[in-house]
Amino acid sequence: MLKLINFSSNVVFGNNVICSIPSEMESKNFPKDIIFISGENTFKLFGNKVLDKIQKSDFRVIKDIIGVGKDKDTIDDQISKFPKDKKYTIIAVGSGSVLDAGKYIASETNSPLISIPTSLSTDAIATSFSVLWRKGSSIAIKTVAPSLVIGDYQLLKKEDKRFIKAGIGDMLSKLSALYDWRLSFWLAKEKYNDFAYSLASYTTKLIIKRLNHILNSDYIGIETLFLAEVTDGYLMEISNTTRVAAGSEHLFSFAMETLGVNLLHGELCGIGTVIMHFLQTGSHKARKIFEKSHFPITVKELGINKETIIKALSISHKMRNWYTILGKEGLTEGQAERLAKYAGVI
Ligand SMILES: [Zn+2]
Repeated sequence: MLKLINFSSNVVFGNNVICSIPSEMESKNFPKDIIFISGENTFKLFGNKVLDKIQKSDFRVIKDIIGVGKDKDTIDDQISKFPKDKKYTIIAVGSGSVLDAGKYIASETNSPLISIPTSLSTDAIATSFSVLWRKGSSIAIKTVAPSLVIGDYQLLKKEDKRFIKAGIGDMLSKLSALYDWRLSFWLAKEKYNDFAYSLASYTTKLIIKRLNHILNSDYIGIETLFLAEVTDGYLMEISNTTRVAAGSEHLFSFAMETLGVNLLHGELCGIGTVIMHFLQTGSHKARKIFEKSHFPITVKELGINKETIIKALSISHKMRNWYTILGKEGLTEGQAERLAKYAGVI
């Protein structure tokens, strides 16, 4: 059966584009009633300014949810309070977890979403998948792509370098994810799309080529990282799977989160990429790229103990029903320790 793909995201980007929110909303005939979502810190720094701009227009904020978190049951509880059979405009201002909650609420209320990232630390800004938490485990849910993504460079270039590096980590995950995706097609008959694979390889090369620009947060660097993350949304739409951007390195990041490691998603993906790329190819190419970016990849730099890395590696294959380099059985703790050592992480 032919499946129609809906490239629903419009993207507005550049310096100070945030001022154009009310006119963009007007021109797209978005519903006048707004549900506004933001993180607690983001709201103080920036969300309140967006809220001000909207309140001066003839759109009405009927509910603001500040500090929603990523627990699915808590978000479901919020959604149950909104009148049914009514469309809203959902505005999500913040980093990955706020945008993931926004996409879920937009999907459940059948409403358009405006995604306003304040950080480029993950590709969650434009994808149609949300990662939420339920009873201590992360779950990936097919939701909706934002109807409008606003990338304001003046805002994004102010973010801490740690978040920019995490964004690089999430984007360079493809160094191992694409290998795994191809493997899953040949060995486990998972969905695969050669065109999306080629595009994803190209954006990865571009990120590596422009690494210094990205680390300097200059115009071309912010634009490259922002558009690469937006492109991930399109890649997932074309291939109808997250596998184009996530493989065994993401499984490792989910395992680390499950073990309670409190590092950014992209930081965990970066370490995962260094390890899995070594397992796949026997080369330290990925490690060298991350080292060049002063990206923390060793237990010493990360301030975590080696036992956690070993444990996470040995349970990674259980995190999703994906075929990857870890196979169906995964690694024993002995193998995991040897791998982490050889990859230069412990
Ligand atoms: Zn990711």
